[in-house]
Amino acid sequence: MLRVLKFGGTSVGSLDRISNVANIIKKQKDQNDDLVVVVSAMSGETNKLLAYAKHFSSTPNKKDVDMLLSSGERVTSALLSIALNEMGYKTISMSGAQAGIKTDDDYTFAKIESIDTTNIKNCIKDGYIVVVAGFQGKNISNNVTTLGRGGSDLTAVALCGSLDADICEIYTDVDGIYTTDPRVVPTAKKLNQISYDEMLELSSLGAKVLQNRSVEMAKKLNVKLVSRSSFTPDVCGTTITKEENIVEKPIVSGIALDDNQVRVGIYKVIDKPGIAGSIFSKLADEDINVDMIVQTVGVDGLTDLDFTVPIDDLIKTKKVMDSFKDSSENIDYNEHITKVSIVGLGMKSHAGIASKAFSAIANEGINIRIISTSEIKISMIIDKDKSKRAVKALHSVYGLDK
Ligand code: ADP
Ligand code: ASP
Ligand code: MG
Repeated sequence: MLRVLKFGGTSVGSLDRISNVANIIKKQKDQNDDLVVVVSAMSGETNKLLAYAKHFSSTPNKKDVDMLLSSGERVTSALLSIALNEMGYKTISMSGAQAGIKTDDDYTFAKIESIDTTNIKNCIKDGYIVVVAGFQGKNISNNVTTLGRGGSDLTAVALCGSLDADICEIYTDVDGIYTTDPRVVPTAKKLNQISYDEMLELSSLGAKVLQNRSVEMAKKLNVKLVSRSSFTPDVCGTTITKEENIVEKPIVSGIALDDNQVRVGIYKVIDKPGIAGSIFSKLADEDINVDMIVQTVGVDGLTDLDFTVPIDDLIKTKKVMDSFKDSSENIDYNEHITKVSIVGLGMKSHAGIASKAFSAIANEGINIRIISTSEIKISMIIDKDKSKRAVKALHSVYGLDK
């Protein structure tokens, strides 16, 4: 059996934690499984390196940023390999480039284009445990690229797919996927299974337990993905799988919250055809991912527009919006918001799910600023200081505590 195991930042957060990971690997290797291990940087390391870059420049060259950030996972891959070697195993550590991961040129958010697995396969054949630095690859010009925050999950899933491995186990600091972030709602329940589509919504809507691009790829390549804990490795985790494999299909499977959005409001804009189009195309030209949008019905030929953008894009957004100052009365930015979302396959076939959410939020005396829905999710923008209360209320109204 060939397994891909991935260990996240907290799982390799100290030398002791790396020893713990080595022991988990030992157990699996002693069962004669072939192993490819993917590691993140030690927790906090990537942010520390980013802060170092920002010390010198508020807009550091992205190529240099990738060179810098990729070093974090190389440290842990080498250390883990050294630890395993000392325990008597044949091991080899590799950067993403050495592992054959080829990407496009989009520094700091590169997409994997192909993986040449020859090197890894030869090492496995020779009995090595291969330890790969996650979150990185190289582009056609041989420069190091990184895959976006949380990207080691993507490395693991992509390697699992390319190697045609049997399973991809993502080890983190919680023992699976819960109905909501267990650090926010302690009564959250662990799910045995969840579909790719629901997981993709949850992670895109803020549940960082799995990176959304990794879930997308797992679905595409039909990778058997399991989320579990390196702190309690004997507890079985959550399997992310195809919808048809899901035994129980609850109407609502989970609730996500995303604190990294800003609400932008532009008021009393001249309500003429194409104005919204020109705002959003200018934002798109700057690669700004506009999420929820509402436009109020125009009065006196004027209209209001509200939308959300990722907090990391706020500076770029302000620059774009400045060019609309003259065609509106006022533009404002609110960072004190949270996007709360409920996700479930059952929403496709059940009515009244949304109204239940809105009354649960209203009963808490919380105002909903923006709403958006899709087939399997409902998202609401509310004030940040009320988000925990909202999530708890929603969690209980859909019976997820039970
Ligand atoms: P790693 O460093 O291992 O990649 P992350 O910090 O990226 O780990 O993700 C794990 C965290 O995700 C957990 O500590 C938990 O707080 C958070 N999380 C958010 N939503 C959920 C959820 N629905 N189920 C489990 N964990 C969640
Ligand atoms: N170290 C990177 C990050 O913090 C990638 C990862 O952990 O998956 O985003
Ligand atoms: Mg992560």
